[in-house]
Amino acid sequence: MAKRKVYLDHGATTPLRKEVLDEMMPYLTNSFGNPSSIHSFGREARVAVEKARQQVADAIGASPNEIIFTSGGTEADNMAIQGVARALSSRGKHIITSAIEHHAVLDACQSLEKEGFSLTYLPVDKYGLVQLKDLEKAIRPETILVTIMFANNEIGTVQDVAGIGKICRSRGVYFNTDAVQAIGQLDVNVQEQNIDLLSMSAHKFYGPKGIGVLYKRQGVKLKPIIFGGGQERKFRPGTEYVAGIVGMGKAIELAVAEMETKTAKMRELRDYFVAGLLEIGGVTLNGHPQQRLPNNVNVSIHNAEGEALLLNLDMEGVAASSGSACTSGSLEPSHVLRAIGLKHEVAHGSLRLTLGKDTEREDIDYTLKVLKPIVARLRKITGTLVRE
Ligand SMILES: *Cc1c(COP(=O)(O)O)cnc(C)c1O
Repeated sequence: MAKRKVYLDHGATTPLRKEVLDEMMPYLTNSFGNPSSIHSFGREARVAVEKARQQVADAIGASPNEIIFTSGGTEADNMAIQGVARALSSRGKHIITSAIEHHAVLDACQSLEKEGFSLTYLPVDKYGLVQLKDLEKAIRPETILVTIMFANNEIGTVQDVAGIGKICRSRGVYFNTDAVQAIGQLDVNVQEQNIDLLSMSAHKFYGPKGIGVLYKRQGVKLKPIIFGGGQERKFRPGTEYVAGIVGMGKAIELAVAEMETKTAKMRELRDYFVAGLLEIGGVTLNGHPQQRLPNNVNVSIHNAEGEALLLNLDMEGVAASSGSACTSGSLEPSHVLRAIGLKHEVAHGSLRLTLGKDTEREDIDYTLKVLKPIVARLRKITGTLVRE
């Protein structure tokens, strides 16, 4: 079999769609106006930005005036958490999150902890699920925010977001969710799921990098974290990245329109892939077997080292990730794998393989074919080391 190029790291980023690039092109060339300018160039850009705002709002059941464009998921996460903390600190200084959040959320929370806020990091079960009972017990009179991710970027586990939203609403606490991995893969509706704040990022659903959104329900109290002008209703000042915004609007429209067919195909391929991986032997699936992202496969390959697996797969043309992209390069096993109770040595042998809308069965077959001898070789080395 000829060497293929197989990209199985869609959880880290996705390629820009042709249709999205085509939509962006005019705003990278002739239509370069500043949306704040009142002349025709500016008005043209303004119209494009507002069209995209409507497209994003429609995709999640929001109104356009609840959409704030940001530079990506990380900034949106920070704006939500830091912004609520600054707006409501006189009412209370307690925030609840989970042990498996993305670093954008965890680090924002930790910085607040240093400023005197008190944080509760809810544990998760062995599948990565937050227990609603734990959440209910953790809410105190001084709790101002619950921030729990929609779906985990490493192990793919999807939380009971509607259940969490219902509890938060009934207890009068804001609910923020990092939905970066959910858009285009899961039903997201801020009304039905009682979501007050939500983050997303275009490059995770075939849009450009460097553009994201914070959804803020009308009336939710939020203070800006950067200052400088009137853009985005003063919540996110700075000249808009017009081409990126236009691309994001187009990308989310396509992602939602195609979600049913694309996710059905990915689910089937994912399960086929998992079955093939388990056949290798000494392999365990991480995350929830059903309640997981349609594109996410995360396995621990016992007695093999994750980084070595990655490098060997890369030499065969297969792009994957160990743990999470953000923790690759560091020797600490990921906080997510530790939170679901994996032992260090098992966590070290974990691989994340995330499919895309265009992944084919041949890609999976090729990956399984090249992975088997790699695992056997690495295990032989591990075995030697153990015996010595
Ligand atoms: C990728 C990702 C982010 C960060 O988004 P950027 O746009 O890359 O800053 C945040 N949260 C989750 C769950 C992600 O997967």
